[in-house]
Formats: sequence, C-alpha cells, structure tokens
Amino acid sequence: MKTIYDVAIIGGGPAAYTAAIYTARAALKTVLLTGDIPGGQLLLTSEVENFPGFKDGILGPELMESMKAQAERFGTELMTEFVRGVKPGEPHSLILDKSTLKAHSVIVATGASAIWLNLPNEQRLMGKGITSCATCDGYFFKDKTVVVVGGGDSAMEEALTLTAFASKIYVVHRRDTLRASKIMQDRAIKHPKIEFIWNTEVTDVFGEAMVSGVELTDVMTHEKRKLDCDGLFVAIGHIPASGFLKGVLDLDPKGYIKTTHNVITKVPGIFAAGDVADPHYRQAITAAGDGCRAALEVERYLQNLAEAPARKT
Ligand code: NAP
Repeated sequence: MKTIYDVAIIGGGPAAYTAAIYTARAALKTVLLTGDIPGGQLLLTSEVENFPGFKDGILGPELMESMKAQAERFGTELMTEFVRGVKPGEPHSLILDKSTLKAHSVIVATGASAIWLNLPNEQRLMGKGITSCATCDGYFFKDKTVVVVGGGDSAMEEALTLTAFASKIYVVHRRDTLRASKIMQDRAIKHPKIEFIWNTEVTDVFGEAMVSGVELTDVMTHEKRKLDCDGLFVAIGHIPASGFLKGVLDLDPKGYIKTTHNVITKVPGIFAAGDVADPHYRQAITAAGDGCRAALEVERYLQNLAEAPARKT
C-alpha cells in the first residue's frame, strides 16, 4: 500500500526545515518536498549576521545545510520533487510531476522569488549581466560599473555586497527617500563606491552579448539618458511561490497566502509558513518561527483527527 504521510512539507528554506525538525522529532511521518534546489533564498545570501546563535555570523548555504541535516537526523524523508497542485481531502493529495503523494496534513513553505522590471530587453540579457543576486554573481563584476535598482533593504544589501567587487555602484531609486532600514541606508550612503540616482527609473537595458548600459528616465521630467554599465542588479522585491494553490487557498492580491495566527489557512489540515504567507517580515528567523508554529498546529490537528471517529489510516 502507498505511504500516507502524517505531514508533507513543501519548500526548502528555513520555514520548511524548521517545520520538519519539529514534526519529525514529534515522531510524525514527515516528507519534505524541496523542488530541485533546496535551500531557499538563503542560498543567495553570503553572511547571515542576524540569525541568533551565530555570534560571528554564518554563511547562508551553511545554515541551510545544517538545518537540513537536523531535519534528516529525526527521520525526515527528502524528495527533490516539485508540487504542481494540492487537492484537499482526508488525506490531502499532492500532485507531483509523475505521481501523487498523500498526507494527512500539509505545510506550504515555498517562499518567494525575485520580481523583475519587465524591461523590453530584460529577458534577452538575463544571465548576461542582469541578475538579482550580488552574492551569487558579484564576482563576475570585478572592477566593473554596476547599477542596482530599488530602495529597500535588498537593494542596499546588493549594493554593499557589490562594493567588494565592482569599482562603481549606482543605486537607482524611483523616489527620493529609501524604504530600507536606517542602518542599511547609512552604510550604503556612506560608502565611497556607491552613488544614488534619485527619482529615476531604469526603463531599458542595452547590450548585445552582455549588458553595456541602461536607459534612465527621470520620473519628474520624463527625460531619458543612457548610463554605461556592465551589470544590472534588480532588487525590487519578491513574489510568493503560491501559483499552484490558486483556487485552493485564499491568496491576497500579491499572491501571499492569507492566514490567521500566521500559519492557519482556510483549509483544515493545510498550513502555511514563511515568506509565502508573510509580506511584512520576510526574515530567516521569522520564517523559522512560522515553521515551528505550523508544525505545532499540525500536531494539534492530527491529534484531533486521530480522536475523530472517521479517520482513515
Ligand atoms: P521592499 O522592501 O518591498 O523594497 C522594494 C523596493 O523596490 C522599494 O524601494 C520599491 O520602491 C522598489 N520598487 C518596487 N517595484 C519597483 C519597480 N517596478 N521599479 C522600481 N523600483 C521598484 O523589498 P526588499 O528590499 O526585497 O525587502 C523585503 C523585506 O525583506 C523587507 O521587509 C526588508 O526589510 C527585508 N530584508 C531585510 C534584509 C536585512 O535585514 N538584511 C535584507 C533584505 C531584505 P518604493 O520604495 O518606491 O516602493
């Protein structure tokens, strides 16, 4: 007979691993469906300085590897499968590429991914000088000029990361004030390699084999000008990976899963954790906290299910 898991956790970031550590340690039969590259957004980060317990910081990939090992230690089964859809029921069905997986409860912890600018030449030059990850690609821009778009913490982080490689970093922001936290703003504004271009949008990107420049448009005067550069780092926010749940769970207009108590969705037995349901905090530690909450809710849910007369095993 096919296995019915107590809990299927979809995702491969801090929310997913934390949930797995809790449910597997609680002796629940746990499967983690990670997609093909487990690790989530922390794989795109270098030093994580604000995750408690690592006073000197820890590398993002190292932190994820350690969480994964901890989840496996308690018996979590890992599958590098994508979940294409979820059919609620008892048990719930998870539609995979070539099969269906059954579980009495589900935790959705699929995270969020970078938003792009939708420039005429953006797709064509993607990976040829356009990226959303300074940590991954900064090395390729040694002694080059780069443009970072955005005014949030991500943009400041990208710009500061790039100071280790690039000779000049322009941060192009559509307003004249930043959304980023004060500490990140101060660091970026004080850095001699970083120059801010205010009230300006990047409206196109140029280049044949590689990026050679961007078109800037002043949002006040609508004047356009070209700025030569070798790279374009887009840091304007993220989109939650919730498309496969349309019509199953309630999503907000941006696609974030609507929850109560952070993790409870409208479908009994399906919970959400981390960035896919969190438009506000989006930190590794808050995602991990949500993973813990969701796992505890799963325990409670399964307990109630076991006590209900109609449970099928
Ligand atoms: P964000 O805070 O939503 O900022 C996005 C930025 O991009 C804003 O400045 C926004 O401009 C701009 N933007 C959005 N769409 C644009 C478009 N089409 N064209 C041009 N500019 C556009 O996103 P984030 O920076 O990714 O941060 C997300 C969350 O993660 C935040 O809560 C942040 O604090 C957190 N975070 C923390 C750290 C850290 O603590 N180390 C690092 C990264 C992220 P407007 O300001 O005009 O809206």
